[in-house]
Amino acid sequence: MAQEPQGRADGAPQDDCLFCKIVAGHIPATVVRETETTVAFRDINPQAPTHVLVIPKVHYPDASALAAAEPTVAADLLRESAEVAAEDKLESYRVVFNTGSGAGQTVFHAHAHVLGGRGMQWPPG
Ligand code: IMP
Repeated sequence: MAQEPQGRADGAPQDDCLFCKIVAGHIPATVVRETETTVAFRDINPQAPTHVLVIPKVHYPDASALAAAEPTVAADLLRESAEVAAEDKLESYRVVFNTGSGAGQTVFHAHAHVLGGRGMQWPPG
């Protein structure tokens, strides 16, 4: 199970962060949208026909930490999630913020999962 990181929470890029490397262009990703504050790219292991990750360019370990430090950027994640859904012509979709390893978070850089294109169950697993 992934280790939750300790350390700085000032938004600065982290050398050991996979998603900071994607933001920097050091690791390739299938980018579908980019704004001044966010990048959206297709998940490498999709769980639905549309499975896009929307991440802030700044580094915070999870969405709650991002919202506390930079609430306008947290709002940008939601706005961009809706844009991703619109571009993929999704009538309904799910936005998920796994927060903490017990909830399934494996990458400790805030991100929204945008999932759609198939029927979904509630409660989720
Ligand atoms: P989490 O489990 O909520 O932290 O979500 C992390 C997501 O990142 C998972 O759905 C992974 O499949 C995805 N992922 C991991 N590495 C990459 C990559 O290099 N490109 C795109 N998605 C990735």
